[in-house]
Amino acid sequence: MTYDYLIVGAGLAGCVLAERLANESQRTVLLVEQREHIAGNAYDVRNEEGLFIQRYGPHIFHTKSKRVWDYLSRFTTWNGYTHRVLAQVGDRQVPLPISLATMERLFDRPFTAEQLAAYFEQRRVERSTIENARDVVVSQVGEELYELFFKNYTKKQWGLYPEQLAPEVTKRLPVRFDRDTRYFDDPYQGLPEEGFTAMVERMLESPSITLRLGTDYAQVAGCESYRRAIYTGPIDAFFDYALGRLPYRHLRFRFETLSAKQFQDVGVVNYPNEHDYTRITEFKHLYLQSHPKTTICYEYSGVEGTPCYPIPTPANRRLYDAYRARANELDNVHFVGRLAQYEYLNMDQVVERALDLFDWIRTSD
Ligand code: FAD
Ligand code: UDP
Repeated sequence: MTYDYLIVGAGLAGCVLAERLANESQRTVLLVEQREHIAGNAYDVRNEEGLFIQRYGPHIFHTKSKRVWDYLSRFTTWNGYTHRVLAQVGDRQVPLPISLATMERLFDRPFTAEQLAAYFEQRRVERSTIENARDVVVSQVGEELYELFFKNYTKKQWGLYPEQLAPEVTKRLPVRFDRDTRYFDDPYQGLPEEGFTAMVERMLESPSITLRLGTDYAQVAGCESYRRAIYTGPIDAFFDYALGRLPYRHLRFRFETLSAKQFQDVGVVNYPNEHDYTRITEFKHLYLQSHPKTTICYEYSGVEGTPCYPIPTPANRRLYDAYRARANELDNVHFVGRLAQYEYLNMDQVVERALDLFDWIRTSD
């Protein structure tokens, strides 16, 4: 049989497109995934204790886009979880992003918004242009807080100091002049009530979608017949690394199940200055699960493990652009997603890109 579409990768990008093409455009889809599961890095599963875990680190859905929220809400209800993160600084844990609440816990004294603005004004470093991830922070809060929260965490996380990384890396964290301790201020946030994997399973229910797990693109290219392809894997791999490898930051995850109801006060605790791990996630907070035991996950960043983060440096951007130029010459293959677009994208951005691509395909196919 000739499929209308081959989709490579059953992460969110691939699954949104498979769902749309099958259900909205009545196309046949062959969806191949090299791993033994769907949902990509958002994959979650119950472990032997019945506790939810996320195999590739903490994933919390959050978006400002009603379109994306409404779309995903066709396949799930949401558990209403609000994400909170604490950073271990010396002997105390303080909320991130930096806010009045952070400063009050750090310095054991009350601050008003005006006092905080004055505090930063005295310490911030003037920058005419924001050129890197360090500039973003020091131009807002100064060197002291930069050193405390960002410098070493970023080195651990990326193997690079913030001045070697694009501004977008640290722009992800706002600075707040109120006591809002939520990590994300997006109006829509939470986890799918039965998990990301269950949500994605529902997206793939159409009989027009043939899913093959444990199947690499190389196993079907040239063997299966299809009219067009959508590729959500690493773009450099698609071109057999002809121009060189796009580097990734890899993560290793160490899981522990403890005979205790609770390990830490919130879902994620960051360790900017101590230990060789960056953060610890306790999943039962995210899933609002009550259970006599708890599972936690230590996250280690390095050059081994799962390739997770495209590394946003100018040199990597140039290499990506060169691959992109090659991709643009192909009429019948579309590239979308965090790996194919080599971009530090959140889940909602990936869903939005996939929906946009579908709209484009619909009008041009
Ligand atoms: P992926 O999920 O990577 O899916 C791509 C799939 O393609 C993979 O399953 C891969 O196995 C498959 N594939 C690749 N090559 C081939 C091939 N040759 N043949 C067959 N299959 C192939 N986003 C948020 O919004 N909130 C968060 O809290 C959040 N936390 C994160 C924490 C971590 C540690 C990481 C790494 C990411 C986080 N993200 C978060 C980002 C989120 O994971 C991504 O935005 C999203 O999962 C990307 O979806 P995708 O489909 O583009 O890629
Ligand atoms: N960051 C940091 N200290 C922290 C939290 C974040 O230096 O305690 C920096 C770090 O460079 C990180 C970036 O801000 O990669 C974005 O943080 P986020 O929590 O969004 O990272 P992610 O969840 O994507 O790993």
